[in-house]
Amino acid sequence: MNRNKREKEYYSLDVGDSTFTVLKRYQNLRPIGSGAQGIVCSAYDHVLERNVAIKKLSRPFQNQTHAKRAYRELVLMKCVNHKNIIGLLNVFTPQKTLEDFQDYRYLVMELMDANLCQVIQMELDHERLSYLLYQMLCGIKHLHAAGIIHRDLKPSNIVVKSDCTLKILDFGLARTAATGLLMTPYVVTRYYRAPEVILGMGYQANDIDQWNKVIEQLGTPSQEFLMKLNQSVRTYVENRPRYAGYSFEKLFPDVLFPADSDHNKLKASQARDLLSKMLVIDASKRISVDEALQHPYINVWYDPAEVEAPPPLISDQQLDEREHTVDEWKELIYKEVLASEERTKNGVIRGQPASLAQVPQ
Ligand code: AMP
Repeated sequence: MNRNKREKEYYSLDVGDSTFTVLKRYQNLRPIGSGAQGIVCSAYDHVLERNVAIKKLSRPFQNQTHAKRAYRELVLMKCVNHKNIIGLLNVFTPQKTLEDFQDYRYLVMELMDANLCQVIQMELDHERLSYLLYQMLCGIKHLHAAGIIHRDLKPSNIVVKSDCTLKILDFGLARTAATGLLMTPYVVTRYYRAPEVILGMGYQANDIDQWNKVIEQLGTPSQEFLMKLNQSVRTYVENRPRYAGYSFEKLFPDVLFPADSDHNKLKASQARDLLSKMLVIDASKRISVDEALQHPYINVWYDPAEVEAPPPLISDQQLDEREHTVDEWKELIYKEVLASEERTKNGVIRGQPASLAQVPQ
């Protein structure tokens, strides 16, 4: 496409401190959120005739790690197609050549109403709580089936609609490889780190504090768990003060839960039982996603079409092993963006050619 024609397809407007330069098909932009990677706006898409979310990713090429992360997110989002994972509708950049393609690009996604940080402030009944959990588990199961570990699941990365449907966001930190008992260190929001992540991180003051907080509540883990740790981590864990921990009835008393539901199964006691199986320090003893989907608090919603959806095919199998210079990553991303732009002129992108692409619900 020639330069002039491209320029005519875009317009710019200020959103807070940032300028969005978007295709003219997207109108009525309004800021709805911001994260580590950039700003998110809602907009109306005149081609698809629906509301969408547009995320502007800033400075994806500041170093090799960011560039690789940006590429990984794009490839994974294009491959995954499940109702509980946010769908990618378009990707574009107003920058016209690879040389210009410096600092930003835009992802267009299905628009949701709120993130889970907002929703957990509300008084939800057991039906809603268990349905939200069920959908999270369906989304996570689907990612795991494709060998994808999200690695940054937290309330701000989970979005919902007022009809209680839920989708998982943000693949920037996702990996496609399995890991051992202790997860390799990576940056993940502190409150939501699993014990094996904390222990894999080395011993800065903050991490020690977090481990102490976990064992104060759940109790010092068993000798069996300690024997699985490598010597230096074990020495650290053994040298912590010993705690008996609290029962789950104490940690999560009935008053913290909504009133029991008319529906027989959805009771505070069931929710507490599920929590007691999820909040287990030893990952090998923790309830798996499959088991959680069978738990009485969750399985009231079980639908094989949602739980057992065929896993996505990842189009770039060597996603994690690949190493490139920033310029090479940039070129790979630029090609992906241009290919997507071509395919999505009239609709929706996925990893496949346009003729096979499915329109998400
Ligand atoms: P992110 O940069 O992806 O972490 O998004 C930051 C925030 O923007 C999220 O916590 C949501 O509040 C909001 N957000 C992101 N994507 C969407 C979307 N597709 N629909 C609605 N809100 C979104």
